[in-house]
Amino acid sequence: MLLSRAMIRAAALAGLLAAAACSAPAAPTEPSAPAPPPEPAAPPPPPDPAAIGANELGDVPVLMYHRITPDPSSVYDRTPEDFRAELERLADEDYVPVTATEYATGKIDIPAGKHPVVLTFDDGSASQFTLDSSGEPAPGTAIRILLSVAEAHPDFRPTATLYVFDPPFEEPGGHRTLTWLHEHGFEIGNHTVDHPNLGNVSATEAQREIAGMQRVINEALPDVPVNSMALPLGVHPDAEALASSGSADGVSYRHSSVMLVGSNPAPSPFSSDFDPANIPRIRSQGPEGEGADYGSTKWLDKLAADPDSRYTSDGDPTKVSAPQAASTEPAPHVGNLHRY
Ligand SMILES: [Zn+2]
Repeated sequence: MLLSRAMIRAAALAGLLAAAACSAPAAPTEPSAPAPPPEPAAPPPPPDPAAIGANELGDVPVLMYHRITPDPSSVYDRTPEDFRAELERLADEDYVPVTATEYATGKIDIPAGKHPVVLTFDDGSASQFTLDSSGEPAPGTAIRILLSVAEAHPDFRPTATLYVFDPPFEEPGGHRTLTWLHEHGFEIGNHTVDHPNLGNVSATEAQREIAGMQRVINEALPDVPVNSMALPLGVHPDAEALASSGSADGVSYRHSSVMLVGSNPAPSPFSSDFDPANIPRIRSQGPEGEGADYGSTKWLDKLAADPDSRYTSDGDPTKVSAPQAASTEPAPHVGNLHRY
């Protein structure tokens, strides 16, 4: 659970009161006993969903990054400065990162009034993540920048889902890199072994590509489930369901989310529009250039200008809150919908 600022303040206040109680002089006739430890402050109840405009049927931006490089060579690359500026913007606009799997399975446990965002990285490049000689994320890499922004914005949880092919982050086997990421709360997703266009290969080959990459990941991370995949080039196998589940060479896979390439915010996982096998993503991009109307700067502008369209948490992971006026229909499986 994430602590809200109010909870942290309440805990600090409880600590102060306990300290004040400890400093009162003991009654002279009684032996002094050690003070009992202070009771932990009970978390305050979540605020009224209406007061914070909670809308858990609203849209979620799933942002797609590729290389983070000082020398961008395509519209998919971002500079470290632009990447940092985008994360700062997300933090300032009350977004909190969740993983692809947390989003897709509706486990969006973020404070009331905050908006989930999913940060996804494709292709496992060294510009996204490299460990330096001391075993820390190397300066200038995406993960190092994300950690530094999160340090300055305590509500901005440093997590992301990284879709890797073989070898992950240019490390044969990926043992060091994948282990570090997993141990620090990042999710590893499947991006196939060789990054083929899955629309151009046989059903058998498509399953080999996906199952084979899961094998590589699980050789580095035994027993860590691989729950999400990003389609290379955004293209499904001809038999679309093979992106969600299949098997080859003794390895079975099952994904609770399959990511597309482009080009708009994703529906709430509680919406009837949610399709876990086709989750749209938004390419990280500045306000100008080819396709900028579908890039992250323009979409974040639109979401900011139309806050009713955006997913806003009620702070209570056990129920789904939405205004009566929300036009989005809930998915049939959502039983605990609270309309206000
Ligand atoms: Zn790719």
